[in-house]
Amino acid sequence: MPSFRSGVEAYIGLGSNLDDPVVHVNQARLAIAAVPGITEIGFSPLYRSQPVGPQDQPDYINAVMRISTELEPLALLRQLQQIENQHGRLRLVRWGARTLDLDVLLYDQQIINEPDLIVPHPELAKRGFVLYPLADLAAAEMPIPGLGTLSQLLAACPADGLRKITS
Ligand code: ATP
Ligand code: CA
Ligand code: CA
Repeated sequence: MPSFRSGVEAYIGLGSNLDDPVVHVNQARLAIAAVPGITEIGFSPLYRSQPVGPQDQPDYINAVMRISTELEPLALLRQLQQIENQHGRLRLVRWGARTLDLDVLLYDQQIINEPDLIVPHPELAKRGFVLYPLADLAAAEMPIPGLGTLSQLLAACPADGLRKITS
């Protein structure tokens, strides 16, 4: 008899600031949705944000994708890293320019602390370019494990330098 496993919900952060970032983000969306065991539930508008870390790099295009997945957290991370690599991502400088960055923001309501994977994403509460697109997809009262509700985090995080570029 075929076994049926229902998926859990997760949120993926997408970012790019090299070589036509809008194209990278939109292609990444399709690549993520095409992974067996991942189903897209929602995709935020695109946002333009100023870089974290080194300032001598172009602005970023950011978005958040809401998925249902049957993949375990580390398997999901590995799939995302493969997609980053297919987009020619090179890791040269910490927080330096990149063609594609895919982060696991939330996985179900789990708190994960493994050497390769920390969830919720450790910088989530500080980043407007994560919280505002997340709020386009999720209820304001969604709990962010260990940190409060989404609306509480938004209230403490200015949208400085963040601009929505698609609806
Ligand atoms: P930041 O983590 O501040 O957004 P970054 O995205 O530039 O920085 P990367 O170079 O893409 O950092 O990733 C460094 C490592 O972070 C990866 O090798 C991965 O194992 C680890 N990592 C830990 N938690 C996560 C997560 N939630 N999502 C993605 N990668 C994570
Ligand atoms: Ca990142
Ligand atoms: Ca990353």
